[in-house]
Amino acid sequence: VQIDIIQLVNHILDRFEMNKLEHIGIRRKIPREEILVWIDPDKITQVIDNIMSNAIKYSPEGGKITLQVAKERNRIKISIQDQGLGIAREKVDKIFDRFYRVDKARSRELGGTGLGLAISKEIVEAHHGHIWASSIEGQGTTIYFTLPLVVRKRGGRS
Ligand code: ATP
Ligand code: MG
Repeated sequence: VQIDIIQLVNHILDRFEMNKLEHIGIRRKIPREEILVWIDPDKITQVIDNIMSNAIKYSPEGGKITLQVAKERNRIKISIQDQGLGIAREKVDKIFDRFYRVDKARSRELGGTGLGLAISKEIVEAHHGHIWASSIEGQGTTIYFTLPLVVRKRGGRS
């Protein structure tokens, strides 16, 4: 269905803030306009939940998480940046693999299965979007994903 992604994202973040995350602040860089995308809202909510949960799980107390929504020519780009542990350069691309976890011991302590990002990637690609990560070990991680914009047809032909 056709959804205003801005409203969806704000709603998800409101929910995270209500749960009073252990001293982690969320900053929003989100346009005030309506931006329509053609998505399954439950699935995209699952993607944002997964990425946000990771950002919280792999961040120290007092860390800041920034969620940005940027409108590009024919797509929107959503990025979620944390100030957490970060990921070594040679491991960044593997985090989207099923069951992959960067630090086995540490991850076991924190809990999880290593499926969150693999599922997120499947969902984003089913929506004809892309998902990727950039990270600096010791400084933090940013996960990006894109979704195609609803094309407004001009000239009355369809
Ligand atoms: P699950 O999501 O199934 O509960 P998980 O969080 O371990 O478990 P993924 O979400 O797929 O699995 O993430 C895979 C691995 O990537 C994580 O185990 C972690 O090592 C690393 N990772 C993911 N997000 C971050 C992040 N924001 N900062 C640091 N490491 C991360
Ligand atoms: Mg996860």
